Amino acid sequence: MVEARQWHNEELTEPRRGEYPLSASAVKKYKRCPAQFKFRYIDQLDGMGGSSPYSTLGSAVHEAIERVLIDNDVAELSKTPNQMRKKMMDEYRSINPDIAQKHSDTAKKCIQVAARYVVMQDVEEFRGIEENFKFALTRSDIDHSFRGLIDVATPTEVWDWKTGKNVYDIDEIIQGMIYAMGFLAKYGQPPEQIRFVYLQKEIERTIEPTDDNWQQMLDFARDAIRAKQSGDFEATPEESKCYWCGYEGYCDASPVGAGAVTWEHI
Ligand code: SF4
Repeated sequence: MVEARQWHNEELTEPRRGEYPLSASAVKKYKRCPAQFKFRYIDQLDGMGGSSPYSTLGSAVHEAIERVLIDNDVAELSKTPNQMRKKMMDEYRSINPDIAQKHSDTAKKCIQVAARYVVMQDVEEFRGIEENFKFALTRSDIDHSFRGLIDVATPTEVWDWKTGKNVYDIDEIIQGMIYAMGFLAKYGQPPEQIRFVYLQKEIERTIEPTDDNWQQMLDFARDAIRAKQSGDFEATPEESKCYWCGYEGYCDASPVGAGAVTWEHI
């Protein structure tokens, strides 16, 4: 039975010991392809994507921004945007001094945009930087826990830095609502909005925490939880997504990976 109630009136509880909480990435992966979710979260296989230069770039950029925002008085540092940018670049270089020039240029752009964004928002103080959250829902249709990591929590908003270029509306709704609930669980009040800041594209997109968006997130999460319980993870191959999957080498359904090659072809 699907329960209807206002999203911020959900009953939350502590995650159960021993239960692996769902992340927004996990729910997004299930939506993209249940078999990909299984390879990653049930079989716990390392996909090809895990060590790509882009994940290294993204991690290092996040880390550099985080260090500067944690270690400095943001209101003070915002008066000298160039200093903020320089500090972030210095941190970035110290995290990964060997990174290729190509990625260094991308990182420079990401950091410039992040520093400018922080200055433009004119926030006096942050509530939290890189804040972990966990909560569990106790609905009759979803009795499961969730987790996440908020890049920046202001007094009223969640900011999420994106270093990739892809933008998917539904992914933003899934992540935005899990993070909105994480903010509520952590700080005791709902955020006004969730901001996704695409550093390479220099765009900002926002999600409003609404009941409609919450229900959409629940629909995807419910499917993933039911599949975990039944063990049924149907592959949904499509050449464009299988090419970037990272698990195509394990997947019999893939039109592009070694998993699709039969012994007669070898
Ligand atoms: S290769 Fe394609 S079908 Fe197989 S898990 Fe990846 S996305 Fe799914």
